[in-house]
Amino acid sequence: MNCPNCGAPVETGEVFCKNCGAQLSSAAAKTTKPANPAAVPVAIPSQYKPLGAWAYVGYSLLFSIPFVGLICLLIFTFNDKNLNRRSYARSYWCALLLALIIAIVLVVIGFATNSMDEIMDVLNQIQALYS
Ligand SMILES: [Zn+2]
Repeated sequence: MNCPNCGAPVETGEVFCKNCGAQLSSAAAKTTKPANPAAVPVAIPSQYKPLGAWAYVGYSLLFSIPFVGLICLLIFTFNDKNLNRRSYARSYWCALLLALIIAIVLVVIGFATNSMDEIMDVLNQIQALYS
């Protein structure tokens, strides 16, 4: 096969002429392109591979294991092999922080109500002494 522009011999399958740079066999190049680009499966880099719903369930269960889960959570928080997993690990810290705040609030309320009961007991005892 020869280049239609300059006539130099070109190998079949080449898209551009090595001699003049003209585009070769534009018809053949077009047919290799699919008619519907949306139908083409896009190769997603492994870094951006989406996680399925069950993967999130699995990671949630993994993170909730005492000690081992915390180590896994730390690893996934800083490991960027899969950015979706890293984001989920980071969001899990927000859930842990929220749980910690709720726990602290409950403990504080518990101490406050206990000490109030003690104060009321002392006041009642004092009142009982003088009545
Ligand atoms: Zn040419």
